[in-house]
Amino acid sequence: MKRIYLDHAATTPLDKRVAKTMRDFELKYFGNPSSIHHEGQQARAEIDFARAKIAEFLVCKPQEIIFTSGATEANNLAIKGVVSHAIFKLGIKPHIITTELEHQSVYNVVKELADRGVAEASFIKPSADGLVFPEQIIKEIKDNTVLVSTIFVSNEIGSVIPVREISKQLSLIRANSRIVYHVDAVQAAKFFNCNVEKLGCDLLTLSAHKLYGPKGIGVLYVKTGTKIDSLLQGGSQEYGLRPGTQNTAGIIGMACAIELLGPLEERQRQAAEIKKLRDRLWDSIKKILGVEINGPVGDSRSPENLSITIYKTDQDALIAALDLAGFAVSTGSACVSGSSKPSHVIQALGKITDGPTATLRITLGKDNTKREIDSFIKTFPEIIKKLRQK
Ligand code: PMP
Repeated sequence: MKRIYLDHAATTPLDKRVAKTMRDFELKYFGNPSSIHHEGQQARAEIDFARAKIAEFLVCKPQEIIFTSGATEANNLAIKGVVSHAIFKLGIKPHIITTELEHQSVYNVVKELADRGVAEASFIKPSADGLVFPEQIIKEIKDNTVLVSTIFVSNEIGSVIPVREISKQLSLIRANSRIVYHVDAVQAAKFFNCNVEKLGCDLLTLSAHKLYGPKGIGVLYVKTGTKIDSLLQGGSQEYGLRPGTQNTAGIIGMACAIELLGPLEERQRQAAEIKKLRDRLWDSIKKILGVEINGPVGDSRSPENLSITIYKTDQDALIAALDLAGFAVSTGSACVSGSSKPSHVIQALGKITDGPTATLRITLGKDNTKREIDSFIKTFPEIIKKLRQK
């Protein structure tokens, strides 16, 4: 049976060209980029080149790119690094503003810091259709606010957060304040403009495996002058902010994957194609009784995401039946699937459920075809009908 992969927010397949570039690199440039001999310097030159390519994508300086082991680490570094600076260098108990739409690697970090009494935190509640508005953030600012951290595109429900508007409103206040703005752009980089100057952020997170690149490599963009501490002690790699020998092949793979995304116009063209398929899917699925979309509709929704609530249907049985029929989809965030409890994001939407209820996240990618979507459209109602009869 041909498998149909519809879980691109969890991870994307590795592009064959990226895989080849990485393999060729690894065999040729094995040196430690911190070594001063020829082999080391060759590896160093290659990662410098990759850093410059990623800097071009974000429209920033190469030395503002910090390589990490992925977005989870980059988000931890962003939050804990700013909090650590505030506590140990500024001598204040910091306040963080974030949202209930965040990925666990932001949400759980902020929650933990607040629960331990290390920092104060405000979590912005989204509207029932999953939107967050700049005024909600501005309203929460206090004298000790040091960090605002928002997702750019929700990995679960596809909401697009108005990052530019938030940064504009923050800049009116920030002129004489110490607030750092961090953006988790992991799910946005494929389709949205990640020019950090235009976005107006100080920190921004990327992950390669969401962009047809390898797993285990990510980036934290750190604007020059941002007050942030390193979380690890060790060597002086990554400008002292992230010690440890770099994942050189991963870095080369990440730069290659980002280059393959192409210019913004190409990414937007691809987004429009994917959106057409996503809309075709939703136009059909919404005819099923007891099915509701999670998150916004229209321009505030990312093109590849369809998240739905299906009433009177058992979630685990649904995922299993779809998997058996050849479809890879997810219940919500891949990081919480396996749990039948709705994620904090779905809970934040305030849906009232009575009896078995399933959340399904379908996320399309560049290689999905109309045929694949039509196959899902045909199979899905049959599965729901069967499960509801049980
Ligand atoms: N942020 C967002 C928005 C994500 O979707 C993910 C991955 N699900 C992460 C952070 C964590 O990424 P990584 O797997 O690279 O740690």
